[in-house]
Amino acid sequence: MALHIHDTLRGKKVKFTPRKKGEVRMYVCGPTVYDLAHIGNARPVVVFDVFTRLLRWLYPKVTYVRNITDVDDKINAAAKETGESIQAITERTTKIFHDDMAALGNLPPDHEPRATQHIDAMIELVAKLLESGNAYEAPGEAKGHVLFSVPSMPDYGKLSKLKRDDLVAGARVEVAPYKQDLADFVLWKPSPIEDDLPGWDSPWGRGRPGWHLECSVMSEKFLGPEFDIHGGGQDLIFPHHENEIAQSTCTGGFAFAKYWMHNGYLMAEGEKMSKSLGNFYTVHELLDEFPGEAIRLALLKTHYRQPLDFTKDGLAEAKRELDGFYGALRGVDASAEAGQETPDIIEAMSDDLNTPLALSHLHELAGDLNKAEGGQKPEAGSRLLSAAWLLGLLGQDPEAWFKGEASEGGLDDATIDALIAERDRTRENKEFKRGDEIRDQLEARGILLEDGAQGTTWKRK
Ligand SMILES: [Zn+2]
Repeated sequence: MALHIHDTLRGKKVKFTPRKKGEVRMYVCGPTVYDLAHIGNARPVVVFDVFTRLLRWLYPKVTYVRNITDVDDKINAAAKETGESIQAITERTTKIFHDDMAALGNLPPDHEPRATQHIDAMIELVAKLLESGNAYEAPGEAKGHVLFSVPSMPDYGKLSKLKRDDLVAGARVEVAPYKQDLADFVLWKPSPIEDDLPGWDSPWGRGRPGWHLECSVMSEKFLGPEFDIHGGGQDLIFPHHENEIAQSTCTGGFAFAKYWMHNGYLMAEGEKMSKSLGNFYTVHELLDEFPGEAIRLALLKTHYRQPLDFTKDGLAEAKRELDGFYGALRGVDASAEAGQETPDIIEAMSDDLNTPLALSHLHELAGDLNKAEGGQKPEAGSRLLSAAWLLGLLGQDPEAWFKGEASEGGLDDATIDALIAERDRTRENKEFKRGDEIRDQLEARGILLEDGAQGTTWKRK
């Protein structure tokens, strides 16, 4: 089956054909770095990581760009509240974001531009929009603001399918008398030096960009004015993506992204995540309790367009499933191989990234591996691993998975291995009572022993 994706712009599932044969260019909106990523922020990262893996499998050349928003009023507010400098906040949270996303098995994008490194190009775009009559400078006291004129763009609203009234209501416009039209949005705003806000010199005075500007500028810089796929969370369709389209296409000539993909909302424990409900999960905290791979699997069990209810019970279930996969792979000499045939998984993922179906095929492959006899095991294991690679799963050594990491105050690997070696010796000497004591002693510390034909293996409870 050729790759099909649901395109938000056309409002249906369509066959995907890249603009350039054999090459796919994709831009996905990344985080605003002012706070730790919550599990809802991780969903698009995991979804588009899996999609990129599929694209790389299907096409010789793939360029994946995901930005970092490091200039934003939320960052300014966080700095004011905590007293930490803006630079310290953005650097610290970017670093934690990278660590957390790597712990979930996500590969880094090919380019990760930061907004503050592309301010010059944003100023150029604003000047171009003023010149074409699609933007205007606010007069009088509001001087220093440059706004995009929404009525200058006849097909504005085509992505979100919102009508004029919804657009105005949805724009959550603060009453701003300098706007010619209620739906107009800010391209550039003043940063008076006395307000101690980040600012850059521009033809309209010292100021900073509106949020939407950066993605128009950075996607063009790394992918050109016309590329293939633009992605992000469903909450970005309006106003963010609608406004990106307006900025990038209103002067005519270029069509911007050919396809738009959006992942669905995430709830936690059946409700909208909120700090007061106690269901606000940051990835960083979840990683103290669960392996990153279990979090990843829990996110992939729901189709990316569906709303996802993220629960801790679901995470524990995902962890048990991974125990099953890694249990099947234990002691099997297998590796993921490029070119390994995994038609069922490719087929499922080519149908608008149907990860629930792909995962059910993964369980079938694990079942095949469990049933395989000695000599067939390496091949069955390699098939499972190659399929799992596409989902970014089962990349760890099975022993490492079961051993996990020593908890605080827990026994370290070397101590456990030494105790098992001692137990082996006592058993050779037929001192079974002492052997059992060691086993019980380990179990009391959370270490389970399994005696097999190849000797004793262990895992942390
Ligand atoms: Zn964006």
